[in-house]
Amino acid sequence: MIIDSHCHLDYSNLYDQLDDVIKRAELNKVKYLLTICTTLQSFERIKLIIHKYKNIYGTFGIHPHESKKFTNIDSSFILDLKKKYKKIGIGETGLDFYYNYSEKRVQKKSFIEHIRAASELNIPIIVHSRDAEIDTYEILKSEGKNSNLKVLLHCFTGSKEFAKKLLDLNCYISISGIITFKNSTELADTVSSIPIDKLLVETDSPYLAPLPHRGKFNEPSYIVHTIEKLSQIMNVSREHVMINTTNNFRKLFDLN
Ligand SMILES: [Zn+2]
Ligand SMILES: [Zn+2]
Repeated sequence: MIIDSHCHLDYSNLYDQLDDVIKRAELNKVKYLLTICTTLQSFERIKLIIHKYKNIYGTFGIHPHESKKFTNIDSSFILDLKKKYKKIGIGETGLDFYYNYSEKRVQKKSFIEHIRAASELNIPIIVHSRDAEIDTYEILKSEGKNSNLKVLLHCFTGSKEFAKKLLDLNCYISISGIITFKNSTELADTVSSIPIDKLLVETDSPYLAPLPHRGKFNEPSYIVHTIEKLSQIMNVSREHVMINTTNNFRKLFDLN
C-alpha cells in the first residue's frame, strides 16, 4: 500500500476528473491521499473532497506564494477552523525565496502563525521550503523549542546539511517525483543518507510529474515511479519502501 502524502486534488485538472483519478490511484496501490490546502478557496473544495472520499484526508494552510493575500489569517483563525472541520495537518506553509511572490517578511509571519496553530493543535505542519534553508531551519528550531512540534518537510530538494539539520529537529522528509529526474544525482545521494524511518512519499500533483510522465499533469497514481526510484537509490525492495513510508505517515499523523 502507498500513501500520497501531498497532492492538490482541488486543482481543476484533478478535481474535474476526480473519480477517475482516485480509481487509477487505487489500481496502483495508492490507498490513502492527503490533499493539501493552499488558499481559503482551495479549502472550500477540500472540505467537499474529504466529505465525499473516506480515504482522502485534508489540511488547512496558506501557501507562502499566497500569504500576501491572506495576511489576516493568524493562528487563532486556524484554531477556530479546527473546531468546525476535521483536518489532520496544517499547511502547506513555509518559505519560498526562489519566487518571492510574497515579501519575505510576510511569508515568515504567516509561517510562524501556522506553526503556532499546529503546536497548539498537536498536529503536523507541512512545510514548503525553497531557497530558504537557513531561515526555515531557524524558524522551526526557535518556534519548536518549547513544544512537541511535528514537522513534515515536503518535496525535499535541499542540501545534505539541511537534511541533517531537519533530522536533528526530528522532522520527517517527503520525497517527490523530482527524484526520478535525470539531473537529480546529488539529490539521490542526499536522500540515501536519510534513514528510511523518516521518509514519506508524495506526488505534489498536478505538478512535478515523475519520469516517464515528465511534462504532463501529475496525478497520485504516478507515485509508483518515485517508489521505484527510491528502492533503487536505497538498494531495498519496493515493498520495503512502501511499508516504511506508509508506517511513517501513520505514525506522524497519528492514524493507527
Ligand atoms: Zn510546496
Ligand atoms: Zn504542494
